[in-house]
Amino acid sequence: MSGGGRGTHGTGPLRRGGGAAARGGVFAEILAQVSGEAAQGEDLQAILQRIVDCLAARLPVAIASIILLDGDGGHFVQEVWAGRIDLAPPGALPWPVTVGAAGRCARSGCAQLIADVRRDPDYVPGHRDVRSEYLVPIRHRDRLHGVLNLESTQAGFFTAAVRRMFDAVAAQIAGTIHLARVVLELEQANRKLQQLSMSDGLTGIANRRCFDEHLDGAWRRHAREQRWLALLLVDADCFKRLNDACGHLYGDECLREIARLCGEVFAGTEALVARYGGEEFAIVLPGADAAEARRFGDRLCRQVRWRALVHPASPVAPCLTVSVGVAAVRPHAAALPSSLIAVADRALYAAKAAGRDRVVARTVRRHTALED
Ligand code: GH3
Ligand code: MG
Ligand code: MG
Repeated sequence: MSGGGRGTHGTGPLRRGGGAAARGGVFAEILAQVSGEAAQGEDLQAILQRIVDCLAARLPVAIASIILLDGDGGHFVQEVWAGRIDLAPPGALPWPVTVGAAGRCARSGCAQLIADVRRDPDYVPGHRDVRSEYLVPIRHRDRLHGVLNLESTQAGFFTAAVRRMFDAVAAQIAGTIHLARVVLELEQANRKLQQLSMSDGLTGIANRRCFDEHLDGAWRRHAREQRWLALLLVDADCFKRLNDACGHLYGDECLREIARLCGEVFAGTEALVARYGGEEFAIVLPGADAAEARRFGDRLCRQVRWRALVHPASPVAPCLTVSVGVAAVRPHAAALPSSLIAVADRALYAAKAAGRDRVVARTVRRHTALED
């Protein structure tokens, strides 16, 4: 046996004997079946399982298994097998390529023919009647994906012709695994890209694109449910002066801190906290009217002040402060979410004009906006 741990499995009918022509026919059928399985394009584990099932059912092998390597080729991490295993499994996955005959195959990158397993120090017994073993690297171009392992109760089973057939099977499997892994890696890369395209590089929170999409969705949902929807626009006060006085790196650090404090204040709610742009943040707060959203805004102003980030050039306070414009609405499906942004923007402007470090909240009723 090659190495790692397994349970027990039923055996298929053994086809012994037959001439070279008959054997060639069986090999051709097996290869056709393997390439057919490969073309299914579904779950890799299921495809590989059907391939080893086919090998164990149609050929006199006691055990057929495919053992896959991890990305850097240091460990076997996944195994499918078929056949008969009647000895205790030696260990669980993952196991390092320093162990077992399969490890030797992976390390050397060469097929291993073990004519007599009792004389091979690396052989890990899986079945007491096994006499010979053949291990083939599963390689696609430069990448070694794993090992195809075959064990027979016949000492002389792995003739040159039989080995050539298993070499061809391994090549076929390599293409299948390569394709499945490329698809998986592409899916992972796509997910990562999707995540990157929705988050802000400096603060790690949602970016403007994510905010726009989220607000659109929230608007439609709240219009359907006839619920209040609030938007808070948060703007750091006198931030240009802060950059001028303390440098942009410190400014960046302050932006990260504001993002973190926003996260803290809205933790446990369904709010989306986003960087709206520059030194501005936007928070979509579902189910909140202007009064409730104002309370959150007040809490945020307080938290930023308490954080006491030094701002030597601010006319408002010796530390960094923020101003918040709040707008709340019961959205109409026919109206646009940008109308809510416009009202929050005007509220923010009013908070700045009134001296900064404060919240101004407005309720949008029909086409007018009332200050709370
Ligand atoms: P106000 O209180 O009226 O908002 O004044 P302000 O100085 O904050 O507003 P203004 O729009 O004049 O300046 C915004 C500043 O924010 C200018 C810009 O350099 C700075 N800023 C925008 N994005 C970043 C950033 O990513 N990092 C840093 N450090 N500064 C930024
Ligand atoms: Mg601004
Ligand atoms: Mg500002």
